[in-house]
Amino acid sequence: MEEIIAREGLGNLKDYQTAYREFNWSSMDKDFDWSRGGSYNVAAEAVDRHGRGELKNKVALHSFKASGEVRSLTFKELSRLSSEFAGGLLKLGVSKGDRVFVYLDRTSELFIALIGITKMGGIAGPLFSALGPEAVRDRVADGGPAAIVTSPYLYHRTQSVLAGLPHPPKFIILGDNSGLGGTISFEDVLKEGDQSFEAVDMDPSDPYIIHYTSGSTGKPKGVLLPHRAMLQQLLGVRYVADLGQDDVYWCTADPGWVTGTSVGIFGPWYVGATIISFEGRFDARTWYSIIEKFKVNVWFTAPTALRMLMKAGDAMVKDFDLSSLRHICSAGEPLNPHVVRWGVEVLHRRIHDNWWQTETGAPCIANYPSENIKPGSMGRPVPGIVAAVVDDQGREVPVGKEGFLALRPGWPSMMIGIWGNITRYREYFYVPGWYVTGDQAFKDKDGYIWFLGRADDVIKTSGERLGPFEVESALIEHPSVAESAVVGKPDELRGEIVKAFIVLRPGNEPSEGLKEEITNFVRVRLAYYAYPREIEFVETLPKTRSGKIMRRILKAKEGGSDVGDTSMLDD
Ligand code: ATP
Ligand code: MG
Repeated sequence: MEEIIAREGLGNLKDYQTAYREFNWSSMDKDFDWSRGGSYNVAAEAVDRHGRGELKNKVALHSFKASGEVRSLTFKELSRLSSEFAGGLLKLGVSKGDRVFVYLDRTSELFIALIGITKMGGIAGPLFSALGPEAVRDRVADGGPAAIVTSPYLYHRTQSVLAGLPHPPKFIILGDNSGLGGTISFEDVLKEGDQSFEAVDMDPSDPYIIHYTSGSTGKPKGVLLPHRAMLQQLLGVRYVADLGQDDVYWCTADPGWVTGTSVGIFGPWYVGATIISFEGRFDARTWYSIIEKFKVNVWFTAPTALRMLMKAGDAMVKDFDLSSLRHICSAGEPLNPHVVRWGVEVLHRRIHDNWWQTETGAPCIANYPSENIKPGSMGRPVPGIVAAVVDDQGREVPVGKEGFLALRPGWPSMMIGIWGNITRYREYFYVPGWYVTGDQAFKDKDGYIWFLGRADDVIKTSGERLGPFEVESALIEHPSVAESAVVGKPDELRGEIVKAFIVLRPGNEPSEGLKEEITNFVRVRLAYYAYPREIEFVETLPKTRSGKIMRRILKAKEGGSDVGDTSMLDD
């Protein structure tokens, strides 16, 4: 029998079927100030509207510093500071359409800068501060920013590789810039600006942000998202994160990734929610304590983080008061059914998996509070999105059959281009009538969509096709297994064999006996050809800076393919 986690309450999306059938994007115009004559600009809608309205004295951001201090900014303060920053950028010679990169730790100034840049019509380029010099140089060389907002230590980290670029950007330094010749301080940019600066009225199709993809499958692509993405970002926080104005919300994704801005900053601010930002790195205790301290109502995170919490042990959960939390959202990687069950059993919360990409700009397929969850499924298309599983001719394949996950082009937050690479952009549309995502999936009889793997990761063994996700999900059900990655290893007889890399939970020692035990454990749970014929225990799995398993690195190690671009490999 099919496993179902029944819905508990309703949330904002009362009746999925009806909402999906009757939905029309133009029904959302009234939610925005531009429909009443305001500027068309993501910054105006996210911040200024509240900064002048009823919510002006409400906290927009609690920025929790690594030092333990908290800086809280109201919508009014944020509106003023970002206006000053926007005006200061103009005085510095930055123009509408220019790229301005922000390479900062998660401090409140990161938020001020992002809003300021978009307010003056610039294209913000947030870069995760964990990126190394080469990764930064690649992006700067590609995106050609007019200015980079950074801090002294990050400036020193990248200065030598950035110095040789043909069009050197201006550097805006947060902190003490004495001795950093030719740079300007963040404070001076604010001083130059003017708090009455008004958001520039943009065209809905003008870009406001350039986000580089995670680099899971190759060199990161510079994805441009337009101001009209606001419609779908609002829909994403309304129906998927399921936020309301009174909510405290914590999205753990860094603003260097699309999740960290779309549903991490802009979306929640459109509805007037308070967001939490934490400057430090992952630590299970600290993370639970943040939920307790700020009374977080909705928490948006990723499978990797959830698996790390599981690894930290169930006992720890009891040390914290998590009663404020309604539910958890997860995106970015497949969410193993075992993790969803753990959420219910140990955290006593539902985890709502949702699927999207940098290129889609906002959630496209999701689970909702008002609907049943089928653990292992990404859920169903959000209202306004047509998602299908198609063959290479664009024909929908029958229920239960594997195919390409595709979307009907034209959703509001769809990318408008890949910076400097029109050829790459066109490749997404090679199947007539569809945007092809590069993921393999199937749909079930109820319209739920199930992720199988990235097209590049599909394993061909003994004449069968197999996605790594189902094997990995079976493996982590074994009590000794914390994490796993499965790839195809070239094999003369079978084409490829299934090879599993396994990270053990604390307290387990690698041994031949354990390999055999794990093999037998999954064998009965999987198709006859799908169990791993080879297991290797490893300390860690190669991951991108955004925390995604990089199977192509493991595959290359097994001689199956070229290792490709590794600038995004976390160390
Ligand atoms: P690159 O495009 O540079 O190779 P990437 O695809 O990892 O990297 P992102 O845009 O950050 O870059 O991630 C989108 C991809 O992440 C999706 O195409 C999909 O493979 C995976 N993904 C996102 N959400 C989910 C989910 N809920 N379930 C399964 N996979 C997901
Ligand atoms: Mg991708």
